[in-house]
Amino acid sequence: MRKKIVAANWKMNLGLNEGSTLVNDILKGLPKLDETRQVVIAPTYVHIGQTAAQLDGKDFISLGAQNCHTEVSGAYTGEVSAPILKSAGVKYVILGHSERREYCKETDAMVASKVNQALANDMKAIFCCGEPLAIRDAGTQNDYVGAQVQAGLFHLSAEQLKNVVIAYEPIWAIGTGRTASSAQAQDMHAHIRSVLSAQYGAAVADNMSILYGGSCKPSNAAELFGCPDVDGGLIGGAALKAEDFLGIIAAM
Ligand code: PEP
Repeated sequence: MRKKIVAANWKMNLGLNEGSTLVNDILKGLPKLDETRQVVIAPTYVHIGQTAAQLDGKDFISLGAQNCHTEVSGAYTGEVSAPILKSAGVKYVILGHSERREYCKETDAMVASKVNQALANDMKAIFCCGEPLAIRDAGTQNDYVGAQVQAGLFHLSAEQLKNVVIAYEPIWAIGTGRTASSAQAQDMHAHIRSVLSAQYGAAVADNMSILYGGSCKPSNAAELFGCPDVDGGLIGGAALKAEDFLGIIAAM
């Protein structure tokens, strides 16, 4: 049975003290979750050590990172590799986020190689995909997202895919306050699952968690997460306030 997951993407926000307070407040309010539910917190690299210590020993809330490098080690000033993240206790790595694809010019090939790095280091990849507004307006979002999934993941075996979580994040909904409707989210999640099913078979596709991301908040999370193919969310802005993040976790 696939897991329900709510993952926080802090992006480039919060100082160390603010991050520590936020994690403590989340831990105080978090109900005990069974093994079918998982919370992930992906702070900045600077917070990783501190957050690892705060989450130590808590199986149902895991440490995430927002990126990793395509190489294992070497002369890449300012970068962090998957083995380094693993050594710090990171369990999930967000990869292919639209902000990195846009601002850091990450290509499908780079994202695919980062996925390989995360998996080779026993971490799970949260693989992001999603279309810009022009593609949605043209009505070609299914082909666009299907091609991203193919380019980023289809080199993996079915066994490797067990360690991948997909996050569908329509770019027009990220940080804009404009959420996809539950029908739009369900349609795309079902499409992604059918693309996976065509390549890997229905059993593999049915086992994959597909998260929704894009202006998800406590007031819309229950409706989105109630869709049959929506298995939780990747949360940006609303993950920076304990009360909002806990409200979204409650909806899961
Ligand atoms: C994100 O960027 O992963 C995201 C979902 O952001 P927000 O929730 O702020 O739209």
